[in-house]
Amino acid sequence: MGRHPYAVVGGGPAAGAAARALAAAGADVVLLTAEDRPPYDRTVLSTEVLLHPGASVPEVWPAAADWRARIQVRTGTEVVGLDPEARTLTTAHGDSLTYATALLAPGAEPRRLSVSGSEGPSIHYLRDVADALAISHTFGRARRLVVVGGGVIGLEVAAAAAMRGVDVEVVEARARVLGRGVPAPIAAWIVALHERHGVRIRTGAAPDAVQRSPDGAVSGVRLIDGTVLPADAVVVGIGIEPREHLAHAAGLACDDGILVDASGRTSHPAVFAAGDAVRMRRTGESLGIRLESFSAAGRQGEVAAHTMLGRHDSFTDVPWWWSDQYDATLHSTGVATPNAREVLVGTPEAPLVLSLVGERLVAAGGVGHGPGIARPVRAAGRVIAAGGRVDLRELRTSGGDPASLAAAFRAAARASA
Ligand code: ADP
Repeated sequence: MGRHPYAVVGGGPAAGAAARALAAAGADVVLLTAEDRPPYDRTVLSTEVLLHPGASVPEVWPAAADWRARIQVRTGTEVVGLDPEARTLTTAHGDSLTYATALLAPGAEPRRLSVSGSEGPSIHYLRDVADALAISHTFGRARRLVVVGGGVIGLEVAAAAAMRGVDVEVVEARARVLGRGVPAPIAAWIVALHERHGVRIRTGAAPDAVQRSPDGAVSGVRLIDGTVLPADAVVVGIGIEPREHLAHAAGLACDDGILVDASGRTSHPAVFAAGDAVRMRRTGESLGIRLESFSAAGRQGEVAAHTMLGRHDSFTDVPWWWSDQYDATLHSTGVATPNAREVLVGTPEAPLVLSLVGERLVAAGGVGHGPGIARPVRAAGRVIAAGGRVDLRELRTSGGDPASLAAAFRAAARASA
């Protein structure tokens, strides 16, 4: 299949942004993706596609861009082998391709529920378009759904199912939902919202078996305490695992993620990696971090591409993400550490929680009806990027509504710049 200067493996935002940056700089790129379409925006899968099975899934590249022609996209092409010394990639079809520099952005795999009965039909995971369409069609037929996992994916699925008229119960193993990176008051606001939509949320509970009728159809979920929740479909959202097997088998350093530095370099000089598959050691950090966010994945892909082109670039961004549920939006930015102190500002309709280490802002998360909470959270991200100096007294007297908080954060970011 010839020799390619740049090979990109993956079909999500990291692969898309990397190929784009390479092609925009005039390079020829071959992109290999196992899926049947060019890189696309996965964030619509757990919202729009679940609500409307006919919703379109946007590609991450503008259709008219002149650089697009420099990217050769091979869909339906799973890469199963990497030889870093020979610089070859092998596909599941048995072809091999030689590259000068490669970028791995294979993403992550939904963590599997492994209890009796959990293999088989009507147990869904959400990762790609095919998964989202299958779940969306299930919502048209199912009467009772059990969602396993009260993280972002589980709750977005629960919201969409409830809006489609399905009876929903969420089963969360920990003492509260959204335990990973979402402050308790924001999670409580979301729980109340779900309850108003008739969704039941059961915490401190985990499945022990998926029950099936003699014809194999799902009939219920038995919990560890013996309770049986009747169900005709199950969606599992219990986290993701980085797809590191390709890199690992090739001898690249991996540790719950392909290990990269802040410029996307792996342990081999001709192989780079980005996105959900990596654990990135950012500048000044001794331990790497898996960021699992759409915004970080795209920027990591771009940074790696710049480094592959011989330019200096590194990932210093403050990560951010959002989640849409019903008419509400949750926004979060930064990375809260366990030693952070939480301060609640905002209003009961739109609470915002600031995470501070000493006097320094390290993370912020807020929720509210409509998209208004995005502005103060993104502005808080600018404060974090500028060093994290905030005057809490000033914030508290700012009025507390999202627009006033956004203005106060913008002023704080300007003052630190
Ligand atoms: P995702 O991106 O899939 O939403 P998160 O890690 O944010 O991933 O959330 C997954 C949630 O699933 C966590 O709240 C975790 O406590 C929960 N969880 C993990 N395993 C189980 C299980 N076996 N039963 C119920 N909940 C689980």
